[in-house]
Amino acid sequence: MYLMILGAPGSGKGTQGKLLADHLGIPQVSTGELLRAAVKNGTPLGRQAKGFMDQGLLVPDDVILGLIREILDSAEAQRGVLMDGFPRTVAQAEAVDRILAERGGRVDQVALLEVDEEELVQRLLGRATKEGRSDDNLQSIRQRLMVYQEQTAPLVAYYDGQGVVRRVAGMGSVEEIQERMQKAVRA
Ligand code: AMP
Repeated sequence: MYLMILGAPGSGKGTQGKLLADHLGIPQVSTGELLRAAVKNGTPLGRQAKGFMDQGLLVPDDVILGLIREILDSAEAQRGVLMDGFPRTVAQAEAVDRILAERGGRVDQVALLEVDEEELVQRLLGRATKEGRSDDNLQSIRQRLMVYQEQTAPLVAYYDGQGVVRRVAGMGSVEEIQERMQKAVRA
């Protein structure tokens, strides 16, 4: 099963994605986490991505799609994968549709985590203090929320057109939200 978690920065994609992937027994892939590791290790991918990430901008599609192809070709991903933070643009969604079609697959379901904007900012500022992520400062947070509205939110209509979106209320405790996720997503 190919499952995507869609939602604004701070909506809980990482936390909920990990729990849901464990529940479904498929690997979880976070492009953001992979990019942060690449930056930390100073790899060529990290060097390409760092400037965009620090500014709260998206890393260019061709860079991300190279990474996605590698992931989908890996042995662990053959029974399916849960992706959080990918796709972020309609061009990425169209490209992954083509890549999966070549492999006889498709995006089966998209879980959309819906959280109020005020709550998103509070969560991201809280995370800045706790985790010290270099892109969790007010300027980058505003930028990332704007980028989400402009470039990622149109994916909801794209996937609604395919009839695969499952909307999940993303407010409440981690456990409550996970229960909703598991109900919304068919195994
Ligand atoms: P995240 O951890 O998903 O919030 O991602 C952190 C940052 O990594 C984003 O602000 C982007 O700069 C970059 N990033 C992660 N996933 C993608 C993607 N699919 N396309 C472009 N940039 C991405």
